[in-house]
Amino acid sequence: MIVYGVYLMDTDICIYVGSTHQSLSDRKANHHYLYRSGKGHYLHSYIKDNGGWDMYTFKIISDHPHVSRTELLDFEKDSIIEINPLCNQQRNPIRTKEDTIEYYRTRYIQNAEAIKERSRRWAAQTFTCDKCKCDVRWGEKSRHLRSIKHNVT
Ligand SMILES: [Zn+2]
Repeated sequence: MIVYGVYLMDTDICIYVGSTHQSLSDRKANHHYLYRSGKGHYLHSYIKDNGGWDMYTFKIISDHPHVSRTELLDFEKDSIIEINPLCNQQRNPIRTKEDTIEYYRTRYIQNAEAIKERSRRWAAQTFTCDKCKCDVRWGEKSRHLRSIKHNVT
């Protein structure tokens, strides 16, 4: 299960956060189908009005192999609060920019402890490094990628 983001090509600008039990490429194909059919949600009409499908790329924000659907939605919510993507706000319409900021700030404070706890749990989960075939904690991924072991072996 993954939390993924839709990004403006070649930038860190994330316009939408979602989660799925599908692979990223399957989820992307699914979005593309809805995009072409003209149904689906605000994200698709936003993409249409702002450069079109090829201007956007899908990236994994975090990977959660061992969580329940409900926990996955919690992780998704955390990322939405953190990133505050334009196309997620449209689901719960908010009137002004100030309202948006206030909404997310209040939610963030209320959820801060739960978010911290979940990211601690996420950081403690491991993935297998493709190159070294060893298990690495998510929280230590960047350190591992810089390590001698990863770069020399
Ligand atoms: Zn490695």
